[in-house]
Amino acid sequence: MSIRSRLIKGVLLPIDEWREGRRILPLLRRLERSQYGDASLMERERSLKLRRLLAHAYENSRFYRERFREAGVHPEEIRDPSDLRRLPPLTKADMKAHLEEMVAANVPRGYLHRSATGGSTGEHTPFYQDAECLNPKIALEYRFNRWAGWDVGEPIAFVWPAIQDFAGTLTLRTRLRNALLDRRLMLYCGRLDELTLAEHARRLRDFAPTLIRAFPNPLWLLAQHLNENGGAPVRPRGIITVGEPLLDAQRALFEEVFGCPVFNCYVSRECGNIAGECEMHRGLHLNAESLIVECLHNDRPVEPGEPGEVVITDLENRGMPLIRYRIGDIGSLMPGPCACGRALPLMSMQAGRISDFLVSPHDRSYVSGASLCHYLIAEGPGVGQVQLLQKSIDELTIRIVRDRAAATDERHHFEAVIREIFRGKMRVRYEVVESIPREPSGKYMFCKCLLNQESRSPGANDGESTR
Ligand SMILES: [Zn+2]
Repeated sequence: MSIRSRLIKGVLLPIDEWREGRRILPLLRRLERSQYGDASLMERERSLKLRRLLAHAYENSRFYRERFREAGVHPEEIRDPSDLRRLPPLTKADMKAHLEEMVAANVPRGYLHRSATGGSTGEHTPFYQDAECLNPKIALEYRFNRWAGWDVGEPIAFVWPAIQDFAGTLTLRTRLRNALLDRRLMLYCGRLDELTLAEHARRLRDFAPTLIRAFPNPLWLLAQHLNENGGAPVRPRGIITVGEPLLDAQRALFEEVFGCPVFNCYVSRECGNIAGECEMHRGLHLNAESLIVECLHNDRPVEPGEPGEVVITDLENRGMPLIRYRIGDIGSLMPGPCACGRALPLMSMQAGRISDFLVSPHDRSYVSGASLCHYLIAEGPGVGQVQLLQKSIDELTIRIVRDRAAATDERHHFEAVIREIFRGKMRVRYEVVESIPREPSGKYMFCKCLLNQESRSPGANDGESTR
């Protein structure tokens, strides 16, 4: 560790935390101990946290009080995670319909941050988090980062298509703080062409991060660019992939190009870092101190190793409790301890979050599904289920479920966004459907590129439509 990193970790960040009233570093120290602690002790502490959360939700949230009443359960009757089944799962539709009633009345509005679920599920669901829960959530992310070779005070690069995370990064205060304390390089990957890839590669080399946190699809393009264009190697200690399923071929390429191990991680906007790989790479360890994860099929728990719908109870967010939240992913809990010695249970992800890149007919640049979804849905006039299919280079099919089909202002918004992003070169076709079909994995995809490999590469110059 460099002198600069040591100075940040040992002196500057502790002073900053004291000044700002944060407590990420002490929480991280506690998490570093608890991961190797006694599993039964962790389970007892978790049950205690759960009982506190349920009592808090019952007393302060109109929505949850009604839920308990409807289910005929009192919070005191739920003693541990296995009793949670007495409450029905929480859906995204519940969150949309009852957002304000879900918020805890005893948490001051000024302590609540409004956010919305990430783009790749094609559904934009608003939620609130209280300011206090950000401390443990950041500490949990730091713990995963440390498994991948990073330590507090060291530089991190983000290969990132989520435009909302770039808001405020250019203010003088943020830039100063970043240079002195946070040491983050944010590389925007919502649109990638050869020029942008070359610029990202140059900045990545200059920055020399200890860790890269990346969405696998844009990192795959960047790794290919580095591989094909030579130059000084980029050598982080580890790579953490989030946001999209990590393919075996991608992992192999990242290991080869960056010369370091790759750690897959399951992250969501609503719940933060849910599970991450350790150095054994045989599954993802749950952040069990802060989350309860169930895997269900037809609302019943599946056997360990069997895939099921992931349902999460977040033990940290008291501003808007998420109890038995159906997050929209498929995963399974895995049996047995891990050889690394950590007491955190293991899970695996069958599908995870899926988004894809579309190819622009204007210049063959890659446009990420996550960023398109942001403009089409998060900023759109209405919230609905849609799916984009690119079957040929210059035509996009927008599938809309029937009850949204009449919304002409929505169509105008879609067309304006697509005209802007694809520089007027993409035709739009609508397909009205009863429902959006899911993938064989059970996952709903917002965006699917059905072009073959050749017509996807940047720089390909035949304008012919391909399947
Ligand atoms: Zn392990």
